Amino acid sequence: MAVSKSKPSTKPETYKNYIGGRWVKPLSGSSIENRNPADTRDLVGNFPASNAEDVSAAVSAAREAFPKWKAVPAPKRAELLFRWAQILVERKDAFATDMTREMGKVLKETGGDVQEAIDMTFYTAGEGRRLHGYTSPSELPDKFAMCVRQPLGVCALITPWNFPMAIPSWKMMPALICGNTVVIKPAEDTPLSTINLVKAAEAAGIPPGVINIVMGTGEEAGAALTQHPDVRLVSFTGSTDTGRIVAETTGRMGKICSLEMGGKNVIMVMEDADLDLAVEGAVWGAFGTSGQRCTASSRVVVHKRVYKKFVEKLAERTKTLVIGNGLKKNVEMGPVINEQALQKILSYIEIGKNIDGATLHLGGHRLDKGEHKNGFFVAPTIFTDVAPQMTIAQEEIFGPVLSIIPCRDLDEAIEIGNGVKYGLSSSIYTQDVNRAFHAMEAMNTGIFYVNSSTIGAEVHLPFGGTKATGNGHREGAMISSLDIFSEWKAIYVDYSGKLQKAQIDVFETPR
Ligand code: ADP
Repeated sequence: MAVSKSKPSTKPETYKNYIGGRWVKPLSGSSIENRNPADTRDLVGNFPASNAEDVSAAVSAAREAFPKWKAVPAPKRAELLFRWAQILVERKDAFATDMTREMGKVLKETGGDVQEAIDMTFYTAGEGRRLHGYTSPSELPDKFAMCVRQPLGVCALITPWNFPMAIPSWKMMPALICGNTVVIKPAEDTPLSTINLVKAAEAAGIPPGVINIVMGTGEEAGAALTQHPDVRLVSFTGSTDTGRIVAETTGRMGKICSLEMGGKNVIMVMEDADLDLAVEGAVWGAFGTSGQRCTASSRVVVHKRVYKKFVEKLAERTKTLVIGNGLKKNVEMGPVINEQALQKILSYIEIGKNIDGATLHLGGHRLDKGEHKNGFFVAPTIFTDVAPQMTIAQEEIFGPVLSIIPCRDLDEAIEIGNGVKYGLSSSIYTQDVNRAFHAMEAMNTGIFYVNSSTIGAEVHLPFGGTKATGNGHREGAMISSLDIFSEWKAIYVDYSGKLQKAQIDVFETPR
């Protein structure tokens, strides 16, 4: 998003929407600047600020393409996905660089983001030869019963900025393999990575209109897409507040809606844990992606017997993190996404210090000198002596801010861990298999790890959460994402040659 009035260092490129197989200027005539959050003098480009008319054109293109795409046999749709995945492999390094430039996370992580899209695309392509339905016995003789998946129509995909290629791929691939067509509205801060994904699709030969991209603000383009009567499903990932708006609109209009929202994830460190391993997990979970993952470890609950030692080791390790422009190879933590996010994070730090009364153990300020002066950098921040009900331990901060909460035993750790409105990810560090299994069962989260951080989901397992994190759907794992992007059709074939009435005719069992 537009963040700085300073002059661009290079001539910026102007990007277009992709509608019906053509790159077109937005009818709105307006654009949004996208600047590098590590150095706002670097203008990544100007991107369409689409309006309702642009959205309408994209939905029409998707609607028109739907019958033809639906008629392509799924194994043939899959062949295009295989080709697409291969192109992503070839372009991975360039795409990772673009992503670091527009989003800020370090090159290793943006490489991982592109890799996730590659994995998702190959994995989903394999599904083209399955898409299993099932047969079932009928209660009547000479009658055959089965069910098959059918596509929904036009799917609207609304995505956030923190995984700008992976999350679009989680939604796009299963939607397409099922035979739907899509309109995607990427986040304002990271349109280029989604454009890159779509350009690879174009190069793979995905037919015109099957994938459309409209860029713009959530309030204008996102809302218009959600409200469009020809959109059958909205798949949304983002904040819980926006998810509520999407859910209300889609509920009112009778659309299908899949939501993936916030988290306040916990690592539980027991007194028998390998502390060095737990420290590595906490640093990676709390400060990886500058804490801007929905699965970020924003709370660590530590057994009081090892609390002091854990805090010491964690602070020592955190101090070694190299913070800067993610394009530099040695940098381990980049900036946060934009000025608004920076201010929100700093305001939570103030709340932690002055209202909650937690102890600020490390960080707690903006980095704005030297190489950090033109970016949105926040020092990795650790609060200790945090009580479970404090605001910083309850609300999603979405930045490099970690709350460390002491506990007496596993039961208390579980109670604290579950004592938030979200339910995305949780983890335990212990050497005791009984305790690990006990926690696994007790944690009310969609994802659970043992001796690992709260981040690191793989594409072939279900991704999503309980409570305020979602609305019961799971992405990733084919079995759950196909359930989002297809509807069941039950089919009965009566070959008895007579009228048979289910529930009324009585079948006489031969004696
Ligand atoms: P974040 O706070 O992580 O940026 P948001 O929920 O604001 O999360 O944004 C996630 C996605 O939702 C973005 O693509 C954004 O443009 C879009 N969005 C924001 N507001 C709306 C809205 N009212 N209707 C539909 N989409 C929206």
